[in-house]
Amino acid sequence: MNLILFGPPAAGKGTQAKKLVAERAFIQLSTGDMLRAARTSGTELGKKVAGIMDSGSLVSDEIVIALIEEQLDRNPKAPGFIFDGFPRTIPQAEALDASLAKRGKKVDSVIRLKVDEAALLARVTKRFEDEGRADDNPDAFKKRLVAYNAQTAPLLPKYAKEGKLTEIDGMASPDKVAAAISGCLDGAGKPAKPD
Ligand code: AMP
Repeated sequence: MNLILFGPPAAGKGTQAKKLVAERAFIQLSTGDMLRAARTSGTELGKKVAGIMDSGSLVSDEIVIALIEEQLDRNPKAPGFIFDGFPRTIPQAEALDASLAKRGKKVDSVIRLKVDEAALLARVTKRFEDEGRADDNPDAFKKRLVAYNAQTAPLLPKYAKEGKLTEIDGMASPDKVAAAISGCLDGAGKPAKPD
């Protein structure tokens, strides 16, 4: 089972991915976490992407696709992958399809956490206070939302057309969201038509 957790920044994708890792032994592939780790360890890649990330823009498709490929190769026996924050553009989605196909796998399910963008700003303000991520400051966050709406949301019709998309209320409590995701993975989800 390979699952994409889909939604704007701060929709709760990371929280839900971690629950699935704990409950189902899936492997979480968060390109945001990988890029932050590269920055923390001071690699050339980390230095290259720091400014782009802090401004709220997307790093290049080439960089994130290479990170994902590396992880797919490193975990050939994984029972499933949760893609968190990837794909974020049409070329990334196409590359993911090709990378998985090369390994005899596919995207099985795309779960969209539907959220109220105004409420996200409040969430992110709190995360900024708790974690101090530079890209959670209000200006960068607004830019991340613009990037999501312009570059990432256009992927929804592709996954809807493929019958893989399920929409879940991401404003519910984390436990309720987790229960809805479990229901979807266990077969209760209904294909969605994105608005
Ligand atoms: P995230 O933690 O997923 O919100 O990602 C934080 C930042 O990392 C984003 O604002 C981008 O600058 C960069 N990033 C993470 N994933 C991607 C991706 N799939 N494509 C391009 N940039 C990404």
